[in-house]
Parts: sequence; C-alpha cells; structure tokens
Amino acid sequence: MSPFADRMQRARAVMAEEGITVMLLSIGPELPYLIGYEAMDTERLTMLVMGPGDSAHLIIPELEAPRVATQSPADVITWTETDDPLDVVAGIIGDGQRMAIGDRTRSRFLLGLQERLPRASFVSSSAVLDGLRVCKDRTEIEALRAVARAADRVAERLGEITFAGRTESEVAADLAAMLRHEGHETVEFTIVASGPNGASPHHEPGLREMQLGDAVVLDFGGRLHRYCSDITRNVVVGDPPDGYAEVHRIVAEAHAAAVATVRPGVQAQAVDRAARDVIQQAGLGDRFIHRTGHGIGLEGHEPPYIVAGNETRLEPGMAFSIEPGVYLPERFGVRIEDIVVVTDSGVELLNTSPREYLVV
Ligand code: ZN
Ligand code: ZN
Repeated sequence: MSPFADRMQRARAVMAEEGITVMLLSIGPELPYLIGYEAMDTERLTMLVMGPGDSAHLIIPELEAPRVATQSPADVITWTETDDPLDVVAGIIGDGQRMAIGDRTRSRFLLGLQERLPRASFVSSSAVLDGLRVCKDRTEIEALRAVARAADRVAERLGEITFAGRTESEVAADLAAMLRHEGHETVEFTIVASGPNGASPHHEPGLREMQLGDAVVLDFGGRLHRYCSDITRNVVVGDPPDGYAEVHRIVAEAHAAAVATVRPGVQAQAVDRAARDVIQQAGLGDRFIHRTGHGIGLEGHEPPYIVAGNETRLEPGMAFSIEPGVYLPERFGVRIEDIVVVTDSGVELLNTSPREYLVV
C-alpha cells in the first residue's frame, strides 16, 4: 500500500472513532500529508472532501488541474471561473454532517459553508490528524533523514564562509545559497546572530558587520520533498569572547543530556528537564529562555513540543529538535540544535555534523 493510501485509511478510522462524517482540507500541511498534493494558497478554493462514506473528492480550480498528479487518490472535480466552488462542495456533502475542517482553511470558506449547510457542525481537523502526524512513518523518516543530511553538509562547510568584515545579511545569503546547493528545494530561514545579537534567539539578520571576537549563532533550514530541516551551529571570529568556551561546553552538555533521555515511554517534558537541569546547575537557568525543542515534519514547528508541562509520552517515529541555548544580553548567545527521531529502543540523531564551535 502506498504511504498515502495507508494514511487515508488510518484517517478514516479516526474519523469513524470520533463520529466525524466528513473532513475538509484546504491549504496547509494536512492535504499533502494525506494525498501528496499541496493546495496553492490563493483566493481560489482547493478542497479535499473526504466523506460522507468512502468517497473522496478533490475540488480544484480548472486552471490548477494540470498540477494534480493523475494518481490522485481522490476524484478530481474542477470548477471554472464562473462557478461557485462552495456550492460544489456543499452539494457533495449535504447538510447535517459532523465535519472536521483544516486549521488553516480561510474563514471566508468556512463561513460560506456554514451558510450553505446550516445544520452541519465543525471541529478542527487536528482532532483527526494530529495523532497520526506526530508519529512519522517510514517514508517520512527517510525524507527527514535526507533533508537533515543536506543541512549537515552546509554545517560542514561553514569554514568556507568569510565572516570578518561582512554583514549578517551577507552571510545569511551565503547560507541560503549553500542550503540550495546541498539539496534543499526551498530555504525557510537563515538566522545569523552575531555578537550581542546572539542573545536574541530569533534574531533577524541585519547590517551588523562582524568583527574579531564575535561569537555567531547560525540557525538555518529549508525543505526537501516538503520535509523540513533545522540545525544550529556556532562559530567565533578569531578569539572567543570571555567565558564563551565554558558556556558552549555547558550547552553541549545540556544537549547531550537531553538526547540521552529520549526513548519510548519518556514524557516530552523529561527531555526538556534533562537539558534544563544541566544549565541550571551551571547557574545559567534564567538565561535558557525557551523550550528545549519542537516537533518537525511537513511543518517547521509542530507537535510534540519539548517543554515543561507536556506529559505526552514519546513513541517511535516522533521527530523533534533538541536545541538548548544560553543567551547573555549584550554579550553573546550559544545554541546547539539537532533533529532526532524516537526509535523502538532509543533515539536516532538525524544531524551528525560536528557540534564544536568553529573558529573562523
Ligand atoms: Zn533552528
Ligand atoms: Zn528549531
């Protein structure tokens, strides 16, 4: 069975359990998850209508029909520029259904359906799909491995980049070119946070020129076959600033402690705790200002979140980042990030490039 047919089957089983008779998916990651086709995010409606019963229809604008692979598991219905696509969808569904609808579907379409189907009720499609998507299947793990390897190849080439005398934006452009060159289809983000900017975890690369003595946080990722990479490494320009080597060592230790905690049955929050304990014991607990990680797959950030309070028990196939950091305002930041997958007995690190800071 193809992975898509398998996912459709499992989605239908959850719908039946939840008493959901129709699922509607438009833009966002859920449609490609189920059928391998991604809707264009435009004012023209694309919608997968699963149900009622065993039916599945993909409603798309006529001009986008050539984008749909012929092996689409749903019957394709095209609408022309003079049709009302919501009438087409409502006509297939009929009134009175209990429906799940994709989180990112434009409210205009939801409101239009509510008007046409006054007796229908709606819940979020996460009720159906989150539980499936959180554990990656073999095809997805292979895609995550491939894109992580592509990110690793960029991390291994950081020494080729000139930092001194150049701006963060220039280095960000270098990283973007390298991400593409090493196999990414799209570049999603390239954080270059130098010197004091490193203390801001989501710093937007700017015109600051890097100079001797700067520590630089490099956090970058893109997509390959729709799956995301996300990796963070650190470089110093010339001699590291005072205390830098020690902070980097502590973050590396926190990262290793978190990785060592990952195995099936462990709560997500225990992984966060393992990283946080190391940083707290070093007296820097208040400088680790974010969760330890986030799930990754078709979205750059998705469940499971590796955060205090998340009692979700890890299961084989869950994929997430482990990215502890320490941020010292006005001085520098350090973050080390890899993607891991939970295996049957422990953990697989998808990123394997060196985690030591590089002197450039
Ligand atoms: Zn990152
Ligand atoms: Zn991340």
